Amino acid sequence: MTTSDARSLHQLVLSVDLDEWFHSRRWVDGQQAVCVPDTAAFLRKFHGSERPTGELVEPTRHVLGLLRARRLTITFFVLGQVARWYPDLVKEIQDHGHEVASHGLFHVDMSVLGPQVFEDQLLEAADLLQRLTGAAPVGYRAPNLVYEPWATAVLERAGFVYDASVCASRPIGGKYRGWTNAPTVPYHPSYADVAARGDARLVELPLPSFPVLRIAAGSGIVMRIFGFNWSYHALRHALRRGNTSFYFHPWELGARPKPLGHRLKNEIFLRHTGAWMSRSVETIVERFSSRIIPARASAEALLAREAAPAGAAVTGAPESDVAIGDRAPGLSID
Ligand SMILES: [Zn+2]
Repeated sequence: MTTSDARSLHQLVLSVDLDEWFHSRRWVDGQQAVCVPDTAAFLRKFHGSERPTGELVEPTRHVLGLLRARRLTITFFVLGQVARWYPDLVKEIQDHGHEVASHGLFHVDMSVLGPQVFEDQLLEAADLLQRLTGAAPVGYRAPNLVYEPWATAVLERAGFVYDASVCASRPIGGKYRGWTNAPTVPYHPSYADVAARGDARLVELPLPSFPVLRIAAGSGIVMRIFGFNWSYHALRHALRRGNTSFYFHPWELGARPKPLGHRLKNEIFLRHTGAWMSRSVETIVERFSSRIIPARASAEALLAREAAPAGAAVTGAPESDVAIGDRAPGLSID
């Protein structure tokens, strides 16, 4: 196989985090890291009700339609709390053939929960999804992409095959510390450090960063802030090395939420929600259509390559980390 053949086989893991806009406000007001699960109080204050009023349904259905039109299946990391609010929507996602994976129970940093509460909530959320879909989830993404070293063993014990929380980025807003030089292709992490290769059974599916600068590029939020080409070029670059990932939230395609709290931070956080984001997601789907796969398929491809006897033909392209010359300069930023 030539290098260009291998490159042409690398795939894009496309995923959706199914949570609400107010679950992602950690960066704006710091609330979600510590104050949830009292989402009911938040909702009472801003909606006059203890549950949301259905605003997540329409943009999620829009995403489902967009994927169906191209016959694509992807992964939905569903928050347990959202599954309780919208059980029929989760079933609808599964009926469309998509993978239903876990985004935890409430949108709380695992560093706040601690190992025991994290494990209890992980199992409760997995049970909830299993009751809705008939199958236990095998994939996990941490709320706010906040990860603790002990989580790897907990996820394995709970039967998870892969995690998709690491972003190979310099620290931003207090997140991604120590992840700047994380592998950029699927790998097995170390039990001591999820951003380093090691001997865990769990597969890590990392999110890419912008080349050389090493700043996060694989999410809808950063695409809205830095522009379409920021993520588009980072994804093209990452695909030369191996499978890579991009994720977004349906709420980003919907009506702009009511701004609350810090005005400037909200302007940045909510920049380009709605029609701009809808067009951008459609363009990502259109341009990478032939390479898009669910997260589970990428993890299983790595495991299949490892299980294949030496010299045997395997499905999927070989992957390699960045060359030494491409690594981020050793700035003392983290
Ligand atoms: Zn989330």
